[in-house]
Amino acid sequence: METIESDVVIVGAGGAGLRAAIALAEADPGLRISLLSKVYPMRSHTCAAEGGAAGVARSDDSMDLHFGDTVGGGDWLCDQDAVEFFINEAPKELTRLEHWGCPWSRETDGSVGVRPFGGMKIKRTWFAADKTGFHLLHTLFQTSLKFESIRRFDEVFTTDLLVSDGRIQGCCAVEMRTGEMKQFLAPAVILCTGGAGRIFPFTTNGAIKTGDGMALAYRAGVPLKDMEFVQYHPTGLPATGILLTEGCRGEGGVLRNKDGYRYLQDYGMGPETPLGEPVLKTMELGPRDRLSQAFWQEQKKGNTVPTKWGDCVLLDMTHLGEARILERLPFVHELAHAYAGVDIVKEAVPIRPVVHYMMGGIHTDINAATPLPGLFAAGECACVSINGANRLGSNSLTELLVFGKRAAESAVKYVRSGTTKVDRAAADQQANAAEARVQALFDRPESTETMTAVRNEMTHAMETGAGIYREEAMLKDTADALAKLRQRQTSIALRDKSKVFNTEFTQLVELGCMLDVAQAVAVSALARKESRGSHQRLDHVERDDETFLKHSMAHYQGEDAPRMDYLDVVITKSRPGVRDYSGAKS
Ligand SMILES: Cc1cc2nc3c(=O)[nH]c(=O)nc-3n(C[C@H](O)[C@H](O)[C@H](O)COP(=O)(O)OP(=O)(O)OC[C@H]3O[C@@H](n4cnc5c(N)ncnc54)[C@H](O)[C@@H]3O)c2cc1C
Repeated sequence: METIESDVVIVGAGGAGLRAAIALAEADPGLRISLLSKVYPMRSHTCAAEGGAAGVARSDDSMDLHFGDTVGGGDWLCDQDAVEFFINEAPKELTRLEHWGCPWSRETDGSVGVRPFGGMKIKRTWFAADKTGFHLLHTLFQTSLKFESIRRFDEVFTTDLLVSDGRIQGCCAVEMRTGEMKQFLAPAVILCTGGAGRIFPFTTNGAIKTGDGMALAYRAGVPLKDMEFVQYHPTGLPATGILLTEGCRGEGGVLRNKDGYRYLQDYGMGPETPLGEPVLKTMELGPRDRLSQAFWQEQKKGNTVPTKWGDCVLLDMTHLGEARILERLPFVHELAHAYAGVDIVKEAVPIRPVVHYMMGGIHTDINAATPLPGLFAAGECACVSINGANRLGSNSLTELLVFGKRAAESAVKYVRSGTTKVDRAAADQQANAAEARVQALFDRPESTETMTAVRNEMTHAMETGAGIYREEAMLKDTADALAKLRQRQTSIALRDKSKVFNTEFTQLVELGCMLDVAQAVAVSALARKESRGSHQRLDHVERDDETFLKHSMAHYQGEDAPRMDYLDVVITKSRPGVRDYSGAKS
């Protein structure tokens, strides 16, 4: 097996991974950096982000306001020291990106433009039209090319972490072009593998978002934190799940039910606001969890619009006018036309809530360090936690930058501490075992079990039991179904035995990761007997700070369901209060 020795391995070359790689290369040109990605970096999901990245930019905004919106938006489950660090670093990172060439959209006076976003009291979302992720990722990618010390391994699929002597020693990965296993030895590994929206049937997430890094860390003994908090975005296109960015509402788009009524006024989101310039933090600019929950209630009341793709409500942007739509939302215009056959200049487009983002993930501290020495994590796969029970839109892209850099700085410090020599013999032994496990997948006897059946049953179980609203019996059914599916997937045989770009093989490994992550979501949701943010229990409708102002921690237990325990939330200056989006002064 080929062995590649590095000082730091980064798994994942999306926004977080590329930002980490640049920070490592800048910190020490002598560091040997390996950057692994299962797709070409520009195909990472970050590229799909549309709406923007949050950071205080204007004189009428302040760090305190960004802090307050984020912590309140997260229903007080955020670690406030991490939030404070995040909001202070945010403008610096966004400005740095500008210096690296990111074409932020401008105001007429030439200053950086900011748009309103859900749950934010003030305009603070920097954007590059409605293709922010594309430009952000491009900027990072082109900047990373300047550093010779960043060695890229594209289309290399990580299957295992190497751990011995209680610390990380590297990872193993299959080169997809050849099917060969490679051993990447390093005293420090940074996981930047993104989210896991694909555990649900209807999601904005690209096909590669299968929770691989979460599963790898979890199996290596690192707990998954706050996994029950899954974000639905209120405005996805039916059928495909393609996202219509929150920027639509940020620019003044409104939501109507089948009678043309702006129903959000009935759900504690303030009185009806005039069409045109949206009123911050109320109605359509309320937070995502509340808007998705309002859809569910409207559906129950029979107020949704039946379409051939299921029940929808209408996103109406017709009053914005063609010029504004084409300037600010050109991509949305294109997407609605191509995937729903609707010209948003002339008609409202049917939309419905869609799984978008995992607030939970690999447990890290404020330094992006996991409890496993040498293992760091950043981006959507990690839970640091700045998003608490509900992420505010546009905080994630900024999080990639702030904590991608932070993870790199922590890894450099760790590597320089000198106590981190790789134990070659132990790593070799583990790499050989990992290779044997991969071979065993190819050697499985034929069976009638199929990947499609297991995957469909998993996503169905998640949607029915762990969706927008949850309750005990259904969550139990979901957890039971997942336990059985984890068993069943061990008998799925590969029909394609070839080595070259064997996507059946990678999908099987991804399915195993998704099942582990899905089980952690369901079991964590079952254990949290309260309603908070995106986690709404029909049988426990109130928030219960007494018992549950805590992070949940799911610990891997092999074939058994995870063991749960809890960690205190870091509260520095904002005591839990009422989330008020009614427009009353708060
Ligand atoms: C459609 C859409 C729109 C969004 N819009 C916004 C927005 O406007 N603003 C905002 O703040 N947030 C937005 N988000 C959320 C945000 O884009 C994501 O949370 C963020 O981009 C995740 O970045 P990441 O670097 O953590 O992971 P990703 O960009 O998902 O990258 C993951 C990387 O890990 C690699 N990887 C994964 N598994 C393996 C493996 N086994 N082996 C090797 N490599 C692996 C992949 O190849 C990839 O390079 C949006 C999300 C979606 C889906």
